[in-house]
Amino acid sequence: MKIFNTLTRRKEEFVPLKEGEVSIYVCGPTVYNLIHIGNARPMIVFDTLRRFMEYKGYKVNYVSNFTDVDDKIIKRAAEEGISAAEVAEKYIAECKKDMEGMNVRPATVHPRATQEIDGMIAMISALIEKGHAYVKNGTVYYRTRSFKDYGKLSHKNLDDLMGGLRELKVDGADEKEDSLDFVLWKPKKDGEPFWASPWSDGRPGWHIECSVMSRKYLGESIDIHAGGEDLIFPHHENEIAQSEAASGKEFARYWMHNAFLNIDNKKMSKSLGNFLLVRDIASKYDLQVLRFFMLSSHYRSPMNYSIDLMEAAKNGLERIVTAVTRLKRLEGVAEAKDAASEKEILTRLEELHTKYDEALEDDLNTADAISSIFEMVKLANTSVDENSSASLISQVKGMIVTCSDVLGIKAEKKEELLDADIEALIRERNDARKAKNFARADEIRNQLLEQGIILEDTRAGVTWKRK
Ligand code: AMP
Ligand code: ZN
Repeated sequence: MKIFNTLTRRKEEFVPLKEGEVSIYVCGPTVYNLIHIGNARPMIVFDTLRRFMEYKGYKVNYVSNFTDVDDKIIKRAAEEGISAAEVAEKYIAECKKDMEGMNVRPATVHPRATQEIDGMIAMISALIEKGHAYVKNGTVYYRTRSFKDYGKLSHKNLDDLMGGLRELKVDGADEKEDSLDFVLWKPKKDGEPFWASPWSDGRPGWHIECSVMSRKYLGESIDIHAGGEDLIFPHHENEIAQSEAASGKEFARYWMHNAFLNIDNKKMSKSLGNFLLVRDIASKYDLQVLRFFMLSSHYRSPMNYSIDLMEAAKNGLERIVTAVTRLKRLEGVAEAKDAASEKEILTRLEELHTKYDEALEDDLNTADAISSIFEMVKLANTSVDENSSASLISQVKGMIVTCSDVLGIKAEKKEELLDADIEALIRERNDARKAKNFARADEIRNQLLEQGIILEDTRAGVTWKRK
């Protein structure tokens, strides 16, 4: 597979550090609000990368953090009259619900910054010891000029950066040795959450979190580090400076960055106030449509959100699902027969499969991969019918379903349980409970839960709702 590496600004052949395995770290959200659809873009894109790598046979170790201590979380806690930890807990749970709706699989590990403080203190201590960091009045700063490769990811040189910073005049700039230096640890202010450290009661800076969590869960050198393009500078540049100065090894081999999702051709962001929440979309569309919309562009191309494009995504997705439903019906009536005359169709199917594969191999070109799926759908609609062999029908259907699945798109419609079926199962569960057959009663509850039906035992009897 070829991956565009921000570090070299070239598409490079992907070679893993360890044969057959891939380690991926994706910077996750700061949890002080419901996620917006801009935040959803890296989640969907890199979940698709993970799925594709797994489909290629790699064992993928996928780590994505939650930043659960931050100025914005503290501010939100003060507004809501609850603790910062409660704010984070609430929005992590909400984020997980959105991820599930978008069919973004949970990471192998979702570390949280507040649970990794010891590791951060250890890395900061090591950086001080090596002369890469220093303490001023309880604050620890990274000595940026001590890391000779600083700027290699964002392709900036230190003198350009100095020019920019002189005008900016950052908080606490006066006590820094150099305006390029950034914070690794800062003392608490009144009412803020804090942890004890050798330097002050305080909390870590944002950049050190990811360096530490990546090392703990994936090792000192990893294959792929990813996130939105706004993270290239300073976040990822600073992560490299910290991790490589601490370990003396290359931190990440490949750096992948998704372009932004815009709205009215302006960057969608919380600070600009021009964002749409994933929840807003969920009230109008199945979140599968949002996923399909995101994957209909290449991840390095900026995208503009519009109702028209969402409607196009909805229609496109429906076209695939309808074709698969039709193939399923045909499967039910098809006869097993000699399929010799169908060889051409199978050859064409295999060609489209190769095209699909090549698109994803080429820096995860999901847009072209979706076009190949559409061509498979066209082939199914024009060349497969009641007279086709059972084997052909199931091969075409299987191919469309598998190729969609690698993109996290569910092409097979879930058979929805009818209300009457649910109620029959609830009656059976009640009878089982009366007969003290609790194992069966639990089995029915779980079976319903798997299909998205939640039972509630109330005084008036059992009620149910769909998830
Ligand atoms: P944040 O919570 O702001 O740190 O963002 C979490 C992730 O979402 C980061 O990888 C950001 O780069 C990414 N992100 C934020 N806004 C957008 C956007 N409008 N389009 C694409 N990615 C975004
Ligand atoms: Zn990060």
